[in-house]
Amino acid sequence: MRKIACIALFTCLCIVSTAQEKYRYLRTTGKLPMMAYGLGADRLGGAKMNYIDTNILVKVVDSIKENYIIQLSKNKTAYLEKSYTKNDSTIQLKPFYLTNSWSVKGFSDSFDVVSIGMDERLPYKIWMETNPNKIMVELYGVQSNTNWITQLQTVKEVKNVYFNQIEDDVVQVTIELNHQQHWGFTAGYKNKTFTVKVQHPPTDFAIQNMVIAIDAGHGGSNTGATGITTKIKEKEYTLLFAKALEKLLVKKGAKVIMTRSSDTAIDNKDRVLFLQEQQPRLFISIHLNSSSKTEVQGVSTYYKHVGFRPLSVSILKKMLELDLNEFGNVGSFNFIPNAITDFPNCLVEVAFLSNPEDERKILDPKFHKKVAEKIYAGIKDFLKTHQQ
Ligand SMILES: [Zn+2]
Repeated sequence: MRKIACIALFTCLCIVSTAQEKYRYLRTTGKLPMMAYGLGADRLGGAKMNYIDTNILVKVVDSIKENYIIQLSKNKTAYLEKSYTKNDSTIQLKPFYLTNSWSVKGFSDSFDVVSIGMDERLPYKIWMETNPNKIMVELYGVQSNTNWITQLQTVKEVKNVYFNQIEDDVVQVTIELNHQQHWGFTAGYKNKTFTVKVQHPPTDFAIQNMVIAIDAGHGGSNTGATGITTKIKEKEYTLLFAKALEKLLVKKGAKVIMTRSSDTAIDNKDRVLFLQEQQPRLFISIHLNSSSKTEVQGVSTYYKHVGFRPLSVSILKKMLELDLNEFGNVGSFNFIPNAITDFPNCLVEVAFLSNPEDERKILDPKFHKKVAEKIYAGIKDFLKTHQQ
């Protein structure tokens, strides 16, 4: 009998070690590791699923060019750039991973935190839904062992939280919100606890109490688009528009954070990391558009997350009061600064440098002031709509 037991144990160990040899287990590393749906690429990069935290355990099942295919659950995979992974000799695999107890707490009257205990830092997908407003999370490679969810009175924005085991190894988390507007969230791990920090709405909607970040697109060696007749550089004019907006917002009493105030090259991911540290209430990125068709002209605003659409709609509406063609409001925009979930953000493509009529406007300092006034008016409208 003893012999049989030994053989059984030996066989079991073999299976585990075969699994370890067949697949590689790595951890995420670097600046904003990103999971992608596919290998499609354009000037904005492949379609992003979302950025994930560092030191997340990933199971590599295949490799294509610069990417690993990672197994999220039995039925789901994602692409992850190899350069965003590292070896970890301390990884100790478990036959299964569980969620533990949760808590939902409010902090310092400014945010709520949903904390989900986990056995390991595992991959996740997080997104916004509207009408009714929710934050949705999928935790991959995990089974629910959550037997209670403690919710405290200090919570202001989170209305309710619950989970569904939607696949054998996928736990879906629903965070219902109280307000009509998404004010942003920050997701990641604190040790092995998955946390979602959910912003409360501002307590005071006066512009004097707002911290607003402005991003002048491009800079330094990244010159951006070029003017069709004058060959002016996008980086120089985004800075002029950004400074005009800064001047106006400061005059109105807002606190302004600039991603750059001079002709410096800043990586877009560094802009995101800087802004995540600063935690402004709103973020506006300014660019100038370009098309291979010179007749294309007009203004457009962009958002990625549907919960932030209202800000981009308010700004576009006001911008259209200027004598500009409507190029449109663009959603699911796959641009790095728009991927921020932490606070409402909007990218404004003021006009087309590739269109002679738009270019003439872009050159005019009076137009810079007018654009600043319209962006400000759009921000004011947005705040007014969502004031409690
Ligand atoms: Zn640009």
